[in-house]
Parts: sequence; C-alpha cells; structure tokens
Amino acid sequence: MSVTKSVCIMGVTGSIGKSTADVVLAHSDRYRVDAVTAHRNVSELARMAIELRARYAVIADPALYDDLKAALAGTGIEVGAGETALIEAAERPSDIVIAGIVGAAGLRATLAAIRRGAVIGLANKETLVCAGELMMEEVRKYGATIIPVDSEHSAIFQVLDRDATDKVERILLTASGGPFRTWSLADMADVSREQALAHPNWSMGAKISIDSATMMNKGLELIEACRLFPVPEPQVEILVHPQSVIHSMVEYVDGSVLAQLGTPDMRTPIAYALGWPERLELKLPRLDFTAIGQFSFEAPDINRFPALRLAREALRSGGTLPIVLNAANEVAVAAFLAGRIGFLDIANLVEATMASHADEKLVDIDHVFATDAVARCSTEDMITQKA
Ligand code: NAD
Ligand code: MG
Repeated sequence: MSVTKSVCIMGVTGSIGKSTADVVLAHSDRYRVDAVTAHRNVSELARMAIELRARYAVIADPALYDDLKAALAGTGIEVGAGETALIEAAERPSDIVIAGIVGAAGLRATLAAIRRGAVIGLANKETLVCAGELMMEEVRKYGATIIPVDSEHSAIFQVLDRDATDKVERILLTASGGPFRTWSLADMADVSREQALAHPNWSMGAKISIDSATMMNKGLELIEACRLFPVPEPQVEILVHPQSVIHSMVEYVDGSVLAQLGTPDMRTPIAYALGWPERLELKLPRLDFTAIGQFSFEAPDINRFPALRLAREALRSGGTLPIVLNAANEVAVAAFLAGRIGFLDIANLVEATMASHADEKLVDIDHVFATDAVARCSTEDMITQKA
C-alpha cells in the first residue's frame, strides 16, 4: 500500500476512537487524519486533534463551539460544532470514516458518509439496529462500503464466502456472557453500577459495557448481523464462549465451520477495517493457546437474560420494533448509570416500552427518528412514574 489514506474518526474521544487513533499513529506513513469528532469533551478532543494532526475538529454540543475554538487557537485546525458540522465531517472526502459514536446519535452522520459512497468502518451498531434496512439500501444505491468493526461481525466478514452465502447454514455469534454469566436473577437484582461496568474480557465505553452485562449487546449484534449479512434470523445462533477468543463462526452446508480468532483487543478489527482489502501489521500480544488451555461453550439463558428474547422478537416483527428496543435500551441504560433504576429494570423497561408500541412497517428515515423520539419519551415516562 503506497498511497496515504485519509481518515475521519467520528467519536474520537471514546474507546473505539482511541483505539483507532492508536492504529493510525502506528501507521502514520500510510494514514493521515482529516476530521475528528466528539460529544462534549473539549479538552480531550483538542488534545487528540493536535496529536493526530487533524484538519477539522467537531464538537457535537453547539454550546461548546467557543471553548473548542479557544482550545485550538493558533493550531490551524478548523473548528465546527453541532449536528450540521458532524455531518460535514462525514461528508468531507476522506478515504475511510470510522463510525465510533455511541447510540442512534450517530445515524445522520453515518448516512451522510453512505450518501457520498464512502468506505465506512462501522462500530456504531445502534444505527444498524434502528435503520439497518434503510442504510443497506442507501449503501447499494450510492455504492458505499461498510466494513464491520464490531469484533463478531468483523470475524463473520472475514470468514463469510460472499459468493456462496446461499451455502451458509448457520452463523454462530459468540458472546462472553458478561460479568453476570453465572449469576442468578435474584443476585442480579441489586448489582451496582461498578459491578455491571466491570467486563471480564473487554475494556469498552460505559453503554456497551452495561449492554454486555444485560446481554442486550448480543441482542443488538444479532440484529446487526442480519442487517449486514444475507442470513435470516433463525440461522443466527448465539453461543456463549466465556474466553472471548473465537470472535464468531460461519457454518456451511457441508458441515464445515470457519472461525476467526484473536485476543480481545479492538485494535485488530479496527486495523482490518482501516486496511481492507489489505492487512495492516499490528504489534500486539499474540494468542497463546497453551496459556488459554481450554475453550468452553454454553447455550445462552434467555430467562436470566431476557434482552436476548426481546431482540429476537423485535427482529422478527420486521417493522419499527428494533427502533423501540434500541431507544428504550439507551434511555434505560443511561438511567441505570445515573443510579435512577436497578439493573433488572433495564430489560423490564425495554419490554414494557415494546409492549406499549404498535409495530408498523418502516417507511423512511424520518419515520426512524419519529419512532425513536416517541419510544424515548415512553421509557422516560415509565422511569419517572416509578420514582
Ligand atoms: P464511548 O462511550 O467510549 O465513546 C463514544 C464516542 O461517541 C465518544 O467520542 C463521544 O464523545 C461520542 N458521542 C457520544 N454521544 C454522542 C452524541 N450524542 N453526539 C455525537 N457524539 C457522541 O463508546 P465506545 O465504547 O467507543 O462505543 C462506540 C460504538 O462502538 C458503540 O456503538 C458501541 O456499541 C460500538 N462498539 C464498541 C466496542 C468497544 O470495544 N468499545 C466494541 C464493539 C462495538
Ligand atoms: Mg461485539
């Protein structure tokens, strides 16, 4: 690879954003950074924009424009704020956009990147959950390319024979089981924020860490897999694999199973997306199979982790329910992190919000945003009434 590629890192101050920055800095001869974005952390955004020699830095909260301007004064880095600037960052002609924003908040910017036919390294799974079918239609229409960054989907992407998807019998989506894999429901009832944030294998942002603890993360990933790959819902099986070494597997009609393995480090799937269709060298610790010793597997328990059942129900409905599932979950996770509700309330609130919603056929993107807004209000009302 001889030409330098330019990268736009959406959500640069987050866990995915920082891992992306690491990979880019390790390959500064091949990558230069065009735009970087963040939500509210001005000082970290400014520090990273300078370190990465970015050309454009965007803070999503428009009230922080002057602060960012002051923090970057004299650097020559262009400054923007608000949603229009986020979209502009994605629309600039960078070679690859890393979508590392958390939640449905990343949707408009990712759509803007799709509509200019960009190559997108997509970590932001919530966007695929709430607007996946529409996004994939736009991907085809505008000739964009989505390379999944989520480790399971990167694994599937790497072992899926795209010329023989009709020969796929099953996708085996692996799950660590999270910090409460072996806990009873009674014990999970009063877990603290800190216990829920402590993932056994991966170090990640707060929202996805809680999603891993409820296993909603795997539910979202089930929907993500069905949006990204032409495999119907019943053929995607969730398999608990506590070591998190096998990142997912694809089984073919002849009984052959292909897997992708690696250490639990997001820099590997990020480097795969950045380098695709080539591979970038990464000097990370390699898998030590004798140290790992054994792999184990379990069936997921939908009674203790009802989020898995809810995600399948939402996906099967074929309409707007995944938007409701995602929005309710985002609100409930934020309420749990703020100490307003208990751990088990998260899935209960998602279920109650889904029950209060009449599923409809999804029409267009405005329908996504409208449904998302209504669902958020319903969940918030339920939380307020409980308090
Ligand atoms: P994080 O909380 O660490 O970072 C989120 C980033 O998004 C930050 O830069 C933040 O400033 C920005 N952001 C948050 N809210 C925003 C808003 N309203 N508008 C604009 N920007 C906003 O999250 P993360 O763990 O890096 O996860 C990012 C995405 O990647 C999520 O969708 C997550 O599910 C997915 N993902 C993460 C990992 C991981 O290891 N962290 C693995 C797989 C997938
Ligand atoms: Mg994942």
